[in-house]
This record gives sequence, structure tokens and C-alpha cells, in this order.
Amino acid sequence: MKKKKCPSCGKTSYGSRDENWHCPYCGKDISDVPSEPVEGDMAEIHDILSEEEIIRILKGL
Ligand SMILES: [Zn+2]
Repeated sequence: MKKKKCPSCGKTSYGSRDENWHCPYCGKDISDVPSEPVEGDMAEIHDILSEEEIIRILKGL
């Protein structure tokens, strides 16, 4: 899993690919923003998710 910080709204989103990455907060295409690996990678996800959604998944809710 990777994360990116949106340069437009400053929020962090999570995904497993770099291309076709739209910020779930403001909708900006941030595919070209460099991603960072997430330590302790645990969830294989297929969509671009917001921080709140990731936290919900990790809590198993
Ligand atoms: Zn954004």
C-alpha cells in the first residue's frame, strides 16, 4: 500500500497503484505526485481511499 499527500488540499490518501489516482477529498488528479510506501503494510486495497476509510478498515469495522 502507498500513500500520497494531495498538493491541493493537503490531505493524505491511500492506494496500491500510482496511476489514475484522484484525491478522495477534493477530486484532483494526483497521479503524478510521488507516493510513499506505508510501513507495516497490511491491507491490499484496490481503490483510492481516504484516511478515514483506511482507519475504518484497519479497525475491522
Ligand atoms: Zn485533495
